[in-house]
Amino acid sequence: MNALTEQLVTLKLHGMAMATTELLAAKKLPSLPVALQQLIEAEVTERQVRSIRYQMTIAKFPHHKDFATFDYGASAIDKATIEPLCSGEFAAHAHNLILVGGTGTGKTHTAIALGAELIQKGRKVRFHNAVDLINALIKEQADNRQGSLVRRLQQVDCVIIDELGYIPFPKSGGALLFHLISKLYEKTSLIITTNLDFGEWVNVFGDAKMTTALLDRVTHHCSIIETKNDSYRFKQSQQNVKK
Ligand code: ADP
Ligand code: MG
Repeated sequence: MNALTEQLVTLKLHGMAMATTELLAAKKLPSLPVALQQLIEAEVTERQVRSIRYQMTIAKFPHHKDFATFDYGASAIDKATIEPLCSGEFAAHAHNLILVGGTGTGKTHTAIALGAELIQKGRKVRFHNAVDLINALIKEQADNRQGSLVRRLQQVDCVIIDELGYIPFPKSGGALLFHLISKLYEKTSLIITTNLDFGEWVNVFGDAKMTTALLDRVTHHCSIIETKNDSYRFKQSQQNVKK
């Protein structure tokens, strides 16, 4: 590394440092304005890449999923429904998505893949399992730190709440989740995955009035994607048996 590149690295201008090495190695140097333009572009690109990598880490996806590996032919989910969502525009309007259907029908896969698309478009996403989120809210209250998760999630563009309804949660937890969702209403998009029809939400939240108010907010600006009941895993294992 030459002295110039080293100085740029010290200044944390990694994109410029790389571009400088390339420029200095070139046989014919471009004009000063062109060289400056190249250095700036390299720095901007490097920062975007770094930011996306960082956002992917702090989104806390449980594993990587994308649409390249999603077989629409084996799913009740329509490609024409998903593709417009990949622009991330829905998050700009705090539009919500609810993926509802049986287990193994691609709800979590779709939620993660959409989250990753949003991050690629420069948006901030956080993934939470519903029960873990409720436990975090309960713990926060017990530790007298109430409100910090809400404030943090208000700063992001899209919050994924995965597996609502798979495991029942305590009534106090239902109220805390209701409060969180109310605070995110019209500010932050929600992607909720659930195996429950709306009529069954009251069973996990416990309180009929609160559940009605919750559904009223969540479904106000909302697309509902039904994934039906054919488990992808089950179909795969059946195919393997036939082979
Ligand atoms: P759910 O959240 O609805 O229970 P998942 O999204 O976790 O289901 O899907 C279960 C497994 O099957 C995952 O490994 C997922 O990647 C895979 N899967 C589900 N649907 C599809 C599909 N249409 N194409 C490819 N893989 C799929
Ligand atoms: Mg799931």
